[in-house]
Amino acid sequence: MVLDVAIIGSGFGGLGAAIRLQQVDVTNIAIFERARDLGGTWRDNTYPGCRCDVGSYLYSFSFAPNPAWTNTYSFQPEIWQYLRDVADRYSISDLIHYEHDVTDVAFDESRQLWRLTTSNGEYLAKCVVLATGALAEPRLPDITGIGDFTGTLMHTAQWDSTVELAGQRVGVIGTGASAIQTVPQIAPLVASLEVFQRTPSWILPHLGHPVLDRSKKFFATLPLAQRAVRVWGYWRRELMVLGFVKDPRRMTKAETLSREHLERQIKDEALRERFTPNYRLGCKRVLISNDFYPAFRRDNVTLVTEPIATIEKKGVRTADGVLHELDVLIAATGFFVTDNPMGDKVHGVHGQALGDASHGKLPHYLGTAFPDFPNLFTLAGPNTGLGHSSIIFMLESQLNYVTRAINVALESDALVEPKEDAAQRWTNSLQEKLPTTVWGTGCASWYLNEAGHNTVIWPDFTFKYRQATRRFDSSDHRVVVKTTSSSD
Ligand code: NAP
Repeated sequence: MVLDVAIIGSGFGGLGAAIRLQQVDVTNIAIFERARDLGGTWRDNTYPGCRCDVGSYLYSFSFAPNPAWTNTYSFQPEIWQYLRDVADRYSISDLIHYEHDVTDVAFDESRQLWRLTTSNGEYLAKCVVLATGALAEPRLPDITGIGDFTGTLMHTAQWDSTVELAGQRVGVIGTGASAIQTVPQIAPLVASLEVFQRTPSWILPHLGHPVLDRSKKFFATLPLAQRAVRVWGYWRRELMVLGFVKDPRRMTKAETLSREHLERQIKDEALRERFTPNYRLGCKRVLISNDFYPAFRRDNVTLVTEPIATIEKKGVRTADGVLHELDVLIAATGFFVTDNPMGDKVHGVHGQALGDASHGKLPHYLGTAFPDFPNLFTLAGPNTGLGHSSIIFMLESQLNYVTRAINVALESDALVEPKEDAAQRWTNSLQEKLPTTVWGTGCASWYLNEAGHNTVIWPDFTFKYRQATRRFDSSDHRVVVKTTSSSD
């Protein structure tokens, strides 16, 4: 049977796509999921302390509010459970083909369909929605000798809870979003903890707190009140665009806040110095934490800022020649983002790899559709990531466009793709804006591709993206009615 839509991935994007498509009566859908459960990055990241740094009321589907959040900034288990509940509530669970790792997606010219090769067989589909996420492929650091380490090596996104940390000598590489959440959690357990920092992060106070039972009841009886909190949180975050995008000098105030936070929490001036970033706040992802710096007040926790030279059998050797002997080495080193391997598994009509869009070699339309990739759409695609707000807002915007485009394709049995010039116009307009934003102020970040171009972040107010994705502009697209019947 030919699917109307094959969705790849069952995180926020994949589930959202299935729900929204069903709402417009597209029901011949399958979701392909490589794992045994749904949830994407919120299923995979189980490291101690994993938590969302966007508020709970905003970091959820607008159509599925959850009055029962227990904290204003949710922890991973609750977000994962939320996704499972949403899948049940919208009867999505039965659509998911688990343990179907998609290894190849290619356009079958003769049948004018997409052919998906999975670890569990081949499938044909009229349309494809790639919802494989930007933070899906853990990146181990490319450090000489990493394979020689004889202790336990694990990435934060592949946490093994059976590994005994109590009483062990543990090292953490990285001081990004994942590291700052897990370091305070594991510090009290371990014999010693050495945190290897290459670049300090800007860290602001965390404003999260438990939600009172009476507030939960209030939100359950008065959904409009929860909606108001969501809207308020949304607009407060949009104001940050004035600094991130319009004038990065406005970040000075937040930098002062962050420095004061550091001063309050770390009294040792030399240590403070090593924690102080030398780039503009916002250039790398801004972090929030109240317990990361205090972890370094413990006698068993050390910050190592000497660069890592090699990893050896017994531990990490730094450039000063010191061998830091370790039993467990934790890589909190992030993900393959602009070089996500999924990009090399998807090929368009002329064989071009979809990953070329992140390398700036393939124009994209709304970060979602691509010339020569008819009826194929990506969620969280190029330049749809955010540094200041909820990615769910962006996904829902993309889904407005995707559901309309898919409807056009299915109703006329057509191939729909953006015109080359429309895609080029869109891509150019973003690349012209980016150099004067905070992400162009000079720092290394995972927002940049190998050429130094930002192909990850949306450089404007998110409501502008919502406007751009609100309708299907037929003048920007080629809609070609198929010459072959693709229904069986
Ligand atoms: P990340 O932000 O990419 O941080 C990776 C860290 O590892 C950085 O400190 C980096 O240093 C360091 N590193 C990488 N390679 C290294 C090497 N070879 N030698 C030494 N240090 C190295 O990764 P992440 O912390 O996993 O977070 C990734 C993204 O996931 C976040 O930015 C965020 O979007 C998301 N996340 C979100 C939350 C949340 O609360 N919503 C929580 C966790 C993660 P440099 O800075 O020098 O490169």
